[in-house]
Amino acid sequence: MTTNLEDRLNAALARTCGKTFAQADKAELYAALMSAVREEMAARPRIEGTRKLYYVSAEFLIGKLLSNNLINLGWFDEAKALLARRGIALEEIEEQENEPSLGNGGLGRLAACFLDSIAALGLCGDGAGICYHEGLFHQRFRDHKQVEEKDPWITKESWLRDTGVRFPVTLGELHTEAVMYDVDVPGYNGGRNTLHLFDLPTVDESIIGEGIGFDKTDIAHNLTLFLYPDDSDEAGRLLRVYQQYFLVSCTAQLILKELRERGYSPKQLSEHVVVQINDTHPTMIIPELIRLLVAEGLSMDEAIAQVKAACAYTNHTILAEALEKWPIAFLEKAAPAIVPVIRELDRRVRAQNDDPDVQIIDKNDVVHMAHIDIHYGFSVNGVAALHTEILKKSELAKFYALYPEKFNNKTNGITFRRWLLHCNAPLTAFIEARIGQGFKKDATELERLLAFADDRKTLDALLEIKAEQKRALADHLFRKQGERINPDSIYDVQIKRLHEYKRQQMNALDAIRRILAIRAGHMPARPVTMIFGAKAAPAYTIAKDIIHLILCLSELVKNDPKVAPHLRIVMIENYNVTEAEHIIPACDVSEQISLASKEASGTGNMKLMLSGAVTLGTLDGANVEIRDLVGKENIAIFGRHSDEVIALYDKKAYRPQELAQDPAIKPLLDFIISPEMMAIGDKESLTRLHHEIVTKDWFMALLDLTDYVRVKDALFARYEDREAWAKMSLVNIAKAGYFSSDRTIAEYNRDIWHL
Ligand SMILES: *Cc1c(COP(=O)(O)O)cnc(C)c1O
Repeated sequence: MTTNLEDRLNAALARTCGKTFAQADKAELYAALMSAVREEMAARPRIEGTRKLYYVSAEFLIGKLLSNNLINLGWFDEAKALLARRGIALEEIEEQENEPSLGNGGLGRLAACFLDSIAALGLCGDGAGICYHEGLFHQRFRDHKQVEEKDPWITKESWLRDTGVRFPVTLGELHTEAVMYDVDVPGYNGGRNTLHLFDLPTVDESIIGEGIGFDKTDIAHNLTLFLYPDDSDEAGRLLRVYQQYFLVSCTAQLILKELRERGYSPKQLSEHVVVQINDTHPTMIIPELIRLLVAEGLSMDEAIAQVKAACAYTNHTILAEALEKWPIAFLEKAAPAIVPVIRELDRRVRAQNDDPDVQIIDKNDVVHMAHIDIHYGFSVNGVAALHTEILKKSELAKFYALYPEKFNNKTNGITFRRWLLHCNAPLTAFIEARIGQGFKKDATELERLLAFADDRKTLDALLEIKAEQKRALADHLFRKQGERINPDSIYDVQIKRLHEYKRQQMNALDAIRRILAIRAGHMPARPVTMIFGAKAAPAYTIAKDIIHLILCLSELVKNDPKVAPHLRIVMIENYNVTEAEHIIPACDVSEQISLASKEASGTGNMKLMLSGAVTLGTLDGANVEIRDLVGKENIAIFGRHSDEVIALYDKKAYRPQELAQDPAIKPLLDFIISPEMMAIGDKESLTRLHHEIVTKDWFMALLDLTDYVRVKDALFARYEDREAWAKMSLVNIAKAGYFSSDRTIAEYNRDIWHL
């Protein structure tokens, strides 16, 4: 597999712009590199197998693809060296690429890491999703508030390839035809799989008005505009059902088409196909496949048996409001063809079981999507050890009693190709210099770094890499949003979707505590830079209020000459994969502070430890496994345990009102609605948030606040012993191997897929 990338690039340049390598500008170089990479990927063999996986997901948060593809083709170093000859960094070429806006957060990023690992392991498995033209949304800050704008990421030349494959789809009364685009997914130095993205050619961006507003009833024109369209009204909820049915209708047809092409009959579905249902959004693939198999001549019993043995479900959350339920009337409107199948599935459950809690259609004629997955799939997995235990013990206990054999855990992982090799090249080189290349294929080899845990030179080199990455982030932030931050400060990072359970509000209360302490003359030993990145769902008012609070605090600190030298608060605009790649290598302290029991796993926690950050977290999700791996001396844990939290919810025993009067807490809450904050921000928003925390505090931020600030202060104090900190950092990197998604995927394959 020799390349001579320069020749390939010159050929591509001749094709795309008629220039040579010496003449082309950055945009032309990007276009040509993309073209050369696409050509090479198309030439790689498809990964084949007698059994094929379809990973179906509403989201694929794949990030920019150029570097990732270069790495997987084995061209990365050569491309960098080639560009360096013209004094151009690969990052400058990458800036030409739009980040595909096909996901929201961890769930979508997980799907992307999984595709990478499935291909890397040479497993035959494709992704299936929707080609959203405008993505989730592009976040801007205006008047210290989040404003949503459309995010048109698709350019004329892109990684999307029109396959020419078309599927007829019936969406309620609309009979239409779907288009299938493919994105190649190259395995690391191997073959290739595919991400299939379905689209509707009649969709029309010009119907978008102000911000991200559009006519939600106009399905032919709006269907694939946005991921997670606003569901605060009925038209929005219906649109989501239309999208979901569109995805599964296309995917089910693709599965049966490929099954036939591979020479098998529909009766052999479960022998040759496995479908992984990523959260409940693609649940309707179960009734849709049954419907299609019956149409192919199978009996209802045969069809159900085949589909049941082919479908597996991943649960991502225990938040009740996130377990999807749709009124059957919605399904009758959007997907009438599968309603009789769902009724039949429900009837069969009722014949076996009279407990209303496990039925598919409840007494209000609402369909519980997860119940379909659990009854009519062969596997139910959680995404971290604690999460799976909570599913078995509380949330899904009744189902666990029915089907103990279906339940299993698959602790999430991340692809090290993107989250180490690509985003942290200096650290990669540092590791290679000490333990060689083996960790790239077997991430557990990172443990060999432990042999250097007391090597002063190694620890100093590690500190220097972190310092270099912190300077790079400071430069990036200045270029991106004109923020100046101090590279000698502690970078304290919380980057993830904005949600009350993730408790950015608790971190913000700590920011207020720091402001008040500095004003009272208690200067920190070292300046602190608090870095936030988060998008809030457009209809989630309190989440947007929390963003408003953080942005107001940021402004206030910046303009307070007494506080500013010691504390800065930065919120990154439009947090996405690209921003994550800038921030993660520079992070000192990784904030993973969700209310115990609420974060299913987290994967940001894994990315940050892999770049040597120390976790400050609750015993929630995969934090528990991180603690078990690194040992309690290399992580800072605080807060109530999940059992206590679950008991408080069960007994409805939590009351924030008393805590809100605590003399250490009250001034922090009062500050939110102080005249100086009101002068910066919006009275209604700040007052609403204050009221919410004082009277409800549904995710118990006040309960854990005292312990949080105590443990955080102690951790920051440890930062001053640089050698000891470097050692903690090294242990975190060395123990991160377990969180490679290659390990996760090997387990899915061993226990569920059997490819
Ligand atoms: C990894 C990642 C997430 C998930 O972060 P959590 O902290 O696990 O919630 C969300 N968004 C982006 C862009 C990511 O890269």
